[in-house]
Amino acid sequence: MHEWALAESVIKTIKSGKNIKKGSPVEVLFGELQDIDREIFSFALDELLKQEPELKKTRIKIETEKAEFECVSCGAKFDLKAAVNTPEEKENIHFIPEMAKAFIKCPKCRSHDFEITKGRGLSLRVTGNGEKCRKH
Ligand SMILES: [Zn+2]
Repeated sequence: MHEWALAESVIKTIKSGKNIKKGSPVEVLFGELQDIDREIFSFALDELLKQEPELKKTRIKIETEKAEFECVSCGAKFDLKAAVNTPEEKENIHFIPEMAKAFIKCPKCRSHDFEITKGRGLSLRVTGNGEKCRKH
């Protein structure tokens, strides 16, 4: 139940944030390479939120954060689409992010030596008083 544990830590983070308590919308950026079930996670988040009366006004939105890679050899930045060739490969990477290294090549220099700079794990973004968030 990895999803529940993650949802719990999101709620904890929200509870510790001053701005969020006042009812500012919270965006959970859900990494494209995250290997958890988004539906279960979203359900867990809703359920846990209901148990927190002080977060009654809090709205949580889940957004996908696109994966981004940076080649160590040549410095090129690229996304998942540019890096993989077949839909099957893309599926594999989704479920097993550790396998990314085996599948992904720098589209410029074909090196397997790269860093994952975005799209791993979860992060929270709080938008202040009704202010709209920039979309990626
Ligand atoms: Zn490269």
